[in-house]
Amino acid sequence: MTEHPGKPAGAVNPRDFDVFEFARSGRQAAGAVRVSQLPRMLNEVPEEAPDRDTAFTWQAEGSTQPEMQDDGTEGQQPYLRLAVHGSAWLECQRCLAPYEQAFDVDAIYRLVATEEEAEEFPLDDDEVDVIVGSRQFDLVDLIEEELLLSLPLVPKHDVCPQVHESLVSGVGSAEDVEETGEEQGEADGEPGKPNPFAALEALKRGGPGGQKH
Ligand SMILES: [Zn+2]
Repeated sequence: MTEHPGKPAGAVNPRDFDVFEFARSGRQAAGAVRVSQLPRMLNEVPEEAPDRDTAFTWQAEGSTQPEMQDDGTEGQQPYLRLAVHGSAWLECQRCLAPYEQAFDVDAIYRLVATEEEAEEFPLDDDEVDVIVGSRQFDLVDLIEEELLLSLPLVPKHDVCPQVHESLVSGVGSAEDVEETGEEQGEADGEPGKPNPFAALEALKRGGPGGQKH
């Protein structure tokens, strides 16, 4: 390794850094990002939220893992791990009041050089997503992408502060509902079967539409 006196060790501009070098050198970085820096997230925050500019903390860690290549030799492949924690105010779809939603992202990405490489990558691993790296990588973009993917399908309070009367009166035959619900839950949970939606999600993320600017 050669010394680079001009570059202070550990200093990473999360908007613009060489993510391949970051992975190869096993570097780490951490910081905070506010909702006001994430325009697509800010869209999800209702105007009447008590705090529209909450903060998320993030940690990133680069690494390499040995992998068998096409020519049969073993090569060190670059990986990025990203953790994001924090909360944002969303609008409850049950009572329409703002509520604070917690976000906890912990993701591992296999870094590839091109969109073509991402498309060719075998999608046999639910734990790892494939993303296209860059020497001017924007981590804040990736953080926003992950937060958007973590948005609840139907944002709502665990328990709404005021439950509307029609919802309360709708609970009539609770016993029947519980019994059938349990049986269906077991039938759906086939262990060891790959989730087609996870593969689809990885495909979407790695595909041509994943990294538009
Ligand atoms: Zn609610």
